[in-house]
Amino acid sequence: MFGGTSLNLPPGIPYGFGSEEHDMVCFRCGECCIKYHVRLNLVEARRIADELGLAFNDWLGRYTDKEWQRDESFVLRWRNGECIFLERVKGSNKTRCLIHEVKPEVCKIWTPSLNRRECQRGLVMYWRLTVSPFEELEGRKENLRDFYSFLKSLEFSKNP
Ligand code: SF4
Ligand code: SF4
Repeated sequence: MFGGTSLNLPPGIPYGFGSEEHDMVCFRCGECCIKYHVRLNLVEARRIADELGLAFNDWLGRYTDKEWQRDESFVLRWRNGECIFLERVKGSNKTRCLIHEVKPEVCKIWTPSLNRRECQRGLVMYWRLTVSPFEELEGRKENLRDFYSFLKSLEFSKNP
C-alpha cells in the first residue's frame, strides 16, 4: 500500500519484532480495545473494584454497561467508542490499560499477531506499515525505522 522496503530487521537495529511465543510483540495501539465489548465474571469484577478501592455496586454503576448486566456476568462500559479503561498516552502512538494488573481474562489471553486485523489496522494507522503475504512488515524505510525504535523504547518502559 505505501510503496517501500520490506524488512524484518532494519540494519543496525538489533531488535526482533516477534517473541518466542508470538509472531509479533504488542505495540500498544489499542485497536483491540476499541473493537470488542469485554465480558467479565463476578470474580473478575470484584477484583477490579477492589483494585480501584471502590464499593462493588458503585464500581458496577460507573464502569459496567447496565444493558448487558446478567447474574454474575457484566460488560465493561465504553466511553467515546472504546473501553472505558483504555488511556491514550499523550504525545505518542501508545495506549495503556488502566487496569492492566487485574484486567479480565479475555484481555489477558488476547495475543498480538501479524495476522490479526486489529494489529494490522494499528500498523497502518499509526505507523503507515503493512504486512506482506510473507508476513513481513512493509513500508518506507524511515517508517520502519521509527517503528523499530519505538519498539525498542517499549522494552524499557513499564508494562502497560
Ligand atoms: S480492560 Fe484493558 S485490555 Fe481490556 S479492553 Fe479494556 S483497556 Fe483493553
Ligand atoms: S491491536 Fe495488536 S498491537 Fe494493538 S494493542 Fe491490540 S494486540 Fe497490541
